[in-house]
Amino acid sequence: MASYPVFLKRKQQVADGTLAFYFDKPADFVFKAGQCVRLVLIDPPETDGEGNGRILSLASTPAEAELMVATRIRSSAFKRVLSTLAPGTELTLKGPYGDFVLPADPHAPLVFITGGIGITPVRSMLLQALSDGEERRLLLFYANRRPQDAPFLEELQQACAGNARCTLVATMTAPSAPGWQGERGYVDEAMLARYLDDVQAPFYFLDGPPALVAAMRALLGRLGVAEERVRTEEFAGY
Ligand SMILES: Cc1cc2nc3c(=O)[nH]c(=O)nc-3n(C[C@H](O)[C@H](O)[C@H](O)COP(=O)(O)OP(=O)(O)OC[C@H]3O[C@@H](n4cnc5c(N)ncnc54)[C@H](O)[C@@H]3O)c2cc1C
Repeated sequence: MASYPVFLKRKQQVADGTLAFYFDKPADFVFKAGQCVRLVLIDPPETDGEGNGRILSLASTPAEAELMVATRIRSSAFKRVLSTLAPGTELTLKGPYGDFVLPADPHAPLVFITGGIGITPVRSMLLQALSDGEERRLLLFYANRRPQDAPFLEELQQACAGNARCTLVATMTAPSAPGWQGERGYVDEAMLARYLDDVQAPFYFLDGPPALVAAMRALLGRLGVAEERVRTEEFAGY
């Protein structure tokens, strides 16, 4: 698999405890919206059992000039080092990997169901699908504990608001999310029914923590959605 030198341009907080990292896109690097890469630290001051790299989805779209990944900052050596890197630091990018990408069929509605950091490949795919100018309906169910935990929420709300075929259903699961006017609680059959006329028609993209993916896959199975209409990607390690 190809490997590229990339240089950190900047980092930005995109939710509580969550950073986005931006890199110039190498001229010969090509990827599809939804794919991931392995980002590897070079000679880090500390390491751990998982090694110096992690698989991270590209949250940027292929059309954007920069590559962007985003991650919850937790206590692994990789993330401690990553979060303190100075602009200009060189890393190694390997990939792209994965077939969690938009289907070739331009007609079937697309439904994305994710939560928290699982939004990374969905940001890429949703913005790509919006810019493709296709007629299909796009729905994103996006679950978080609180609005401040939801990376890219405002950006995606704005992108969707300007487009009649796009609906973003953000839902907050914390018992108290003061001032939140939208949906509350986990995505369930009743919530899907409020926004979908025909639950069996769309292609579904489920990704994020393995427990969320398993719960949503089971829900769609109970609703009779054909397995070939469901694509999943588990963020192992969450
Ligand atoms: C296709 C894909 C895309 C991903 N995209 C993103 C992304 O965009 N943003 C993001 O933050 N994370 C993403 N992840 C998850 C990411 O690779 C890390 O696993 C996660 O960020 C946790 O890293 P960590 O350094 O905090 O913890 P780690 O040190 O990596 O591990 C945390 C815990 O999970 C366990 N663990 C780690 N890897 C595995 C595994 N493969 N199987 C079972 N247990 C494991 C460890 O043993 C440990 O107990 C993705 C994973 C995959 C597979």
